[in-house]
Amino acid sequence: MSEEKGWIKKEIIIAIIGVVVAGFASLLSDTVRGWIKALWGLVKSGWHGLGADVTTYRWLYWLLLLVLVVNILWIVWVIIAANRKPEGPREPTWHDYRADEIFGLKWRWEYHHGLIYEPHPFCPKCDMVMVWVNNWNDTHTVTCERCQLKKVFQGDELVATQNKVKREIDRRLRAGEWRDALKQTTEDDA
Ligand SMILES: [Zn+2]
Repeated sequence: MSEEKGWIKKEIIIAIIGVVVAGFASLLSDTVRGWIKALWGLVKSGWHGLGADVTTYRWLYWLLLLVLVVNILWIVWVIIAANRKPEGPREPTWHDYRADEIFGLKWRWEYHHGLIYEPHPFCPKCDMVMVWVNNWNDTHTVTCERCQLKKVFQGDELVATQNKVKREIDRRLRAGEWRDALKQTTEDDA
């Protein structure tokens, strides 16, 4: 008898648990259904909202267009910046050739309208500006006051030597020798 009683008790407990679980389940399913309904409502209203008429200010469209244009310009700029090659050292031109050792002296000059302008003598030893004096025998002497280096040239004026130097520079320019001289002077400076 007591065994039977125990069995009934078990049944009752199981039944109660079942009812409780079922109740929770129905409650839960109600909630879930509610959520789905709410979600569906949102989707539907969103879909309707996409196609619905809207009243707004015209400047909003201009603002939108401005933002769009600025964005496109920015993207283009980024692409250009990404493709730009890094600037390497500039290739020297004949215009950079403005110093060389000629007839045993160092000469420096400029170009005016493409012409060699006023080559000036410098001491090949100490780089001092040299001075010149006329001699009585149709020659002139170019001297370094610092280390007493002397060079005698034909003609009674420095201009004669300057013209001779100009002709030599012109020859080196046309012969392409200026490239080697330029390489030499940049190596000396380094
Ligand atoms: Zn000197």
